[in-house]
Amino acid sequence: MSDAVKKALDYDLIITGGGMVGASLALALKDTSLRIAVLDSQDLTKVQQFHPHPGEFEPRVSAITHASQCFFEELGVWSGVLSRRCSPYSKMHVWDADGTGFIDFSAQEVHAQALGHIVENAVLLAALYDQLGAVSNVTLLSNITLSGVDKGGDQVNVILEDERRISARLLVAADGANSRVRTMAGFNTKEWDYEHHAIVTTVRTQLPHQQTAIQRFMDEGVLAFLPLHEDDSAQQYCSIVWSVLPDFADRLMAKSDAEFALALQGAIESRLGKIEHVAQRFSFPLRQRHASDYVQEHIALIGDAAHTIHPLAGQGVNLGLLDAKVLAQEIRRAHERQLSIGDLRVLKRYQRARKGHNLGMMWVMEGFKRLFAEQVLPIRWLRNVGMSGLNQSDMLKRQIMRTAMGIDEGV
Ligand SMILES: Cc1cc2nc3c(=O)[nH]c(=O)nc-3n(C[C@H](O)[C@H](O)[C@H](O)COP(=O)(O)OP(=O)(O)OC[C@H]3O[C@@H](n4cnc5c(N)ncnc54)[C@H](O)[C@@H]3O)c2cc1C
Repeated sequence: MSDAVKKALDYDLIITGGGMVGASLALALKDTSLRIAVLDSQDLTKVQQFHPHPGEFEPRVSAITHASQCFFEELGVWSGVLSRRCSPYSKMHVWDADGTGFIDFSAQEVHAQALGHIVENAVLLAALYDQLGAVSNVTLLSNITLSGVDKGGDQVNVILEDERRISARLLVAADGANSRVRTMAGFNTKEWDYEHHAIVTTVRTQLPHQQTAIQRFMDEGVLAFLPLHEDDSAQQYCSIVWSVLPDFADRLMAKSDAEFALALQGAIESRLGKIEHVAQRFSFPLRQRHASDYVQEHIALIGDAAHTIHPLAGQGVNLGLLDAKVLAQEIRRAHERQLSIGDLRVLKRYQRARKGHNLGMMWVMEGFKRLFAEQVLPIRWLRNVGMSGLNQSDMLKRQIMRTAMGIDEGV
């Protein structure tokens, strides 16, 4: 038990999980009088020490939308991202391997400088903790694992592995896709396997990415090349997310680096020339999961603890950040009105604002995945015709871009 825990065992708000979403929620409440604890099973001081090295990239990256960038600007975090590294992407090219259908998106068409930014998760976390480390009402509790949650009176108790308890009026679970709080508190979820595994790695390519994200839809799945920060070395790197059927993923993971590079180059039709180098590969099974309720009296779920979706549109963390932003607004509102921040009526306002939007995005992703897995010829033909038709409709394309950038969320 650290000294920090011994000194202050009672808080107004406990956030379990200091990932991108949990840390953003804490920071969004920095200038309130709420006493906040952020508790994580990882060592949060290590997160702050991350420094990028030229030519070496973290395997986990996020496509940060315009809406998330604005939120990070409000939190004072975006300058810390820019001073480390990230890559804007101003164009996106998506095409169907099975025909001639394609769509091009360009930031110019929506009068923006970029469609979004590709940022390593470690860069985002380091920038968040630069700020959070200096906030007086937030206590960071590292290397702490929960063993139980119980509710009594007007508070919730979190039981730690050494059987000590810390209590608060509100417990927010931001502890990721396999949230222990969600399980311990008995939240129901609907979940199903996407029957896809995602392979992620970093590659060096012969040709420059020109700040363009490219994505190819194939029978076996979807392959995305996301542009990474360019330094002065004239070497070009992309992060790849290749989501494929599990057997195919196993075969790709079993290949040598040289064989994998060749398979990758073929799958992306050599659009970036030769794949010159492949870093360590990681493979994750993809599951869609959605909690039936995000809230109970004194407990709220946010980010991946509430919902996980297919990474093909790069929306996962962006949805979680919107959860954090809206929940922070509701907590502030209740606190200013001297209402209990754990009151179910307060928390239900957050659920009402976020659940429909998250579910809508999940169904769109599911629809895409099914459409491109379809083997029936007329549907494949329609898919190609539809893609090309969409590419010619400026109005529809602009609307898709605005939605993907989070411009119309209004929160
Ligand atoms: C292959 C892949 C590619 C993706 N690409 C994108 C993308 O381009 N854009 C995008 O928006 N999203 C993307 N996502 C999704 C994105 O990574 C997640 O949505 C995001 O990480 C969720 O953030 P979070 O803070 O909710 O959870 P997490 O990032 O999972 O953080 C959870 C935190 O909780 C801590 N924790 C876990 N269990 C406990 C416990 N019991 N006690 C205490 N602490 C605990 C962990 O240490 C961690 O710090 C991708 C996902 C995958 C799998």
